[in-house]
Amino acid sequence: MRPIIGMTACRGEGNVYKTNDTYVKAVIRAGGVPVLLPIAARPEDCPRLLDLTDGLLIPGGVDIAPQFFGEEPVKEVTCIDRVQDEFELELIRQAAARKKPMLAICRGLQVVNVAFGGTLWQDIPTQCPQAHGHNQETESRSEAYHTVCLSPGSRLAAVLGKEELRTNSYHHQAVKDLAPGFSVCAQAKDGVIEGIESADGAILAVQWHPECMAERHPEFRPLFEDLIRRSASNK
Ligand code: MN
Repeated sequence: MRPIIGMTACRGEGNVYKTNDTYVKAVIRAGGVPVLLPIAARPEDCPRLLDLTDGLLIPGGVDIAPQFFGEEPVKEVTCIDRVQDEFELELIRQAAARKKPMLAICRGLQVVNVAFGGTLWQDIPTQCPQAHGHNQETESRSEAYHTVCLSPGSRLAAVLGKEELRTNSYHHQAVKDLAPGFSVCAQAKDGVIEGIESADGAILAVQWHPECMAERHPEFRPLFEDLIRRSASNK
């Protein structure tokens, strides 16, 4: 049985709920059945949504409201969606309590970190002046941009079967204080955290966008295949 992968769907222009087709295709390619969870779903309905899904993919998106980690926004934080924040924070916490397999991407990584007590750099260029580039403007989102070093012995390194790889990069925020119960499994050469994983192995989170890389660069597909394999055995 192909596992059902719940993916949160954010609000788009014209009163729609949306996700990018690269997420949908990456899940299907890896053997999963994607189902979209609109972010306007009530947090109190998370238990039912989790009953219906075998695993979760938490996608990229707008900045999380800094108040959720105890800060006021810097002026570079301009686009937030508190409804999305509240739904995803609740969904992630309840999923983690059930050890539901999860792959979190970009904003997803940041929400995971905040959900369990971590904090974020709100704007890398102004708050981490020593950092390299993390927001490429290439023609294609599948263009590899910077190097990521994987932590030896991490689940992420085992899944990808590498010590180092080159990824795309579309973020201006990053993990500042790591949430308790998590470890860093990937970093850029400038020290910016590019991957975190939970001690129980249920949550894997990356700061880059593997769903955009997976079609052109097969070395990113194991991230999705790992989610599907874990979700299938979680049924
Ligand atoms: Mn980056």
